[in-house]
Formats: sequence, C-alpha cells, structure tokens
Amino acid sequence: MIPYGKQDINQADIDAVLEVLRSDFLTQGPVVPKFEETVANHVGANHALAVNSATSALHIACLALGLGQGDWLWTTPVTFVASANCGLYCGAQVDFVDIDPKTYNLCPLALKAKLEQAKDENRLPKVVVAVHLSGQPCDMEAIAALAEEYGVKVIEDASHAIGGKYQGEFIGSSRYSDITVFSFHPVKIVTTAEGGMAVTNDAKLAERMNLLRSHGITRDPALMTQKPDGPWYYQQVDLGFNYRMTELQAALGVSQMERLEAFVARRHELAKRYDQLLADLPVVLPWQHPDSYSGLHLYVIRLKLDSITKSHKEVFESLREQGIGVNLHYIPVHTQPYYRDMGFEAETFPHSMAYYREAISLPMFQGLTEDQQDEVVEVLHKTLAKE
Ligand SMILES: *Cc1c(COP(=O)(O)O)cnc(C)c1O
Repeated sequence: MIPYGKQDINQADIDAVLEVLRSDFLTQGPVVPKFEETVANHVGANHALAVNSATSALHIACLALGLGQGDWLWTTPVTFVASANCGLYCGAQVDFVDIDPKTYNLCPLALKAKLEQAKDENRLPKVVVAVHLSGQPCDMEAIAALAEEYGVKVIEDASHAIGGKYQGEFIGSSRYSDITVFSFHPVKIVTTAEGGMAVTNDAKLAERMNLLRSHGITRDPALMTQKPDGPWYYQQVDLGFNYRMTELQAALGVSQMERLEAFVARRHELAKRYDQLLADLPVVLPWQHPDSYSGLHLYVIRLKLDSITKSHKEVFESLREQGIGVNLHYIPVHTQPYYRDMGFEAETFPHSMAYYREAISLPMFQGLTEDQQDEVVEVLHKTLAKE
C-alpha cells in the first residue's frame, strides 16, 4: 500500500536521537530550547514553546488567551477534531464557520456574517481557530481585520503548514494572529514522533503557556507570590499540565528542521506532477492562492461526481483495494456523534458537507517516488474511466 503520508527519517535523525540517549538529559535539558529557537528563528516569531502534541499546544494557547466557561470558540468544520476540542477542554462552547468552496479554509465572508449576527445576539466568540488546511494559508489578513473589529483572538492551527508562506512571510510569523500552533506527528511535514509547538510574538502569552505546559509551576522569583524559601523552592501559581516535549523528540525535530525547505520543495514538485498528470480527469485539483506558498501537507482532489459513474465511496474503496492508501481529510467535526449530541446539524455548513462528499487525499509525502506517483495516477485514471 502506498500510504497518503509518511515520515522521512535519515541517518542524521537517528544519530541525533542516539546522542541524546547517551547524554545526561532525556527531558528538561538543552535540546528542547534549541528546537524552540530553531523553529522560532525559521518562522520569524519571538517565542516558541515545544509541547508533546499540537493538541496540547492548542489547549494551552486557548487557556493563555483566557478562554473559559461562558466563552465561545469558533473554527472550521473541515479540520481534525483537535482544532475544536481545545475549546471544550477550557469549558467553552464551540461553533463553526463554513469553508470557502475554493480554498476549503474558513471563509472570511461567512465569518463576517456570523460575527455580525453574534454581535446582535451578544455571543461573540473569544477565540477563532483558523486552520491552514493542506498547508494552504487562510486569508489571514481578512480574518485579522474582522478579529480586530470584533475584539476576537486568533489562533492559527498550522499543523499542516510549517515551511509554507503567506504574503512572503513564513507561516508562524503570527503577524495576523496571537498564537500559531504546529504539529510534528509523523504524517505531518516534519516530525518529532509526537509533538507540537506554539509560537507567539507576545511575551505575556509565552510566559502563560510556559507555566501551563509544566504544572503551572515556576522557578522564576519574579512570578512568585513571595520570596523563595531557599534554592530548592518552586511555586505552583496556576493549574497546569505535564505537556512537556522530551529531549529525544526535540533532537529529532532539530535534525528534521534542517531538511524542512527540501521537504516542502519536494512536495511542490510532486504537486506539480499531479497537477499535470491529473489535468484531464473529472476531478477538481487543489487551488493555490497566488500570494501564498503552501506547506502541502495534503494533496486533496474533489471528484466531479456528475461525470463519474462510480460513487465517492466506490472510488475510495477501489483505490484502497488497488494499493493506493488514500484518505479523507476531514469528516466535518460537527457531524461527529459527540458534536451532534450538542445539537449540530450536518447541513448547517453546506460547503463543508459538499467537500466531504467529494474529497480524497492522494499520497503526498517527501519520500514518494515518481514511480509510485505514476502508479497512483494510473490507478486513478483506470478507476475514473467511463465504463
Ligand atoms: C494533526 C492535527 C492536529 C493535532 O496534532 P497532534 O500533534 O497529533 O496533536 C491538530 N489540528 C490539525 C489541523 C491537525 O492536522
């Protein structure tokens, strides 16, 4: 089976992890700060906090922004559940904004309309999570302008997007958001096995997230309520978690970051080949915003079902049966049973549902060979051929 995504591990990665294993620190040593510095420098953000997953990063980002009971978090239905669950972790309520049918990202026009209505009903969200689906950046300038107008905080869920650019700047510069979150799960662009990071330009938010990722405990006298009792002293000043990243993970991350540019460039080569080789098929190819450089975590096609004799499910099953490990990103979050139980109805977000009925993620990862890609293309041509 050719998978839809796969990590790329080389000898340098292995050596970097082994070196940590032989060192004094397996956790809370020098490599996590080095990884944070590497990512912060690369994306152009002032502060970076490494954690054990993007899910944890989203959680502490929401808490740092003050999200809590009685508040609302809005995000897109077409995302992984974590982009929405982080609101629920904080005791807030979650709602969704439909996607733009061209970019598949949260639609700024739908956001504007929903904000206007929410203002009238006095239930404006505290936080909007903008997800850069597939690595394609959201229209952050428009989202930031609305956020400013309505007093909303913005988190970029850039789990798909490290190495990508928006308006010429790396995603993570957080020019148009309060906090940006990355994931280093093995299917993502660079990996630490499990891992995530929150970056921000706001020192106060960074300080809050730093506390929250490690039990709410500080050793910094400036953050304590009294003078330290002695050199052993630490204080718990907030209720935090153990969301720390290990030194092993960070070492893998530092090593992987050296190949980030090459990884994304390779993904672009593959996408260009797909664009050419699939051009005459009854599918909608991914649309690329001209003012952006996608991280290209995913390559999503949409079936033109009117021109195909098979159903979406039949095409999907047929591809899997023929060894092509296609996937679907994502089942709209509001249709998950846990969310349906809150009262969400599928067709409230029609563009998300239309996407769901047609989308297929093709194999896309840096190690995909052209032979493998040709196989994907050939099987797809055969599968979609008129019978
Ligand atoms: C993968 C992913 C997450 C969660 O990342 P983890 O590191 O696995 O917690 C969150 N949001 C999106 C959009 C993702 O793709």
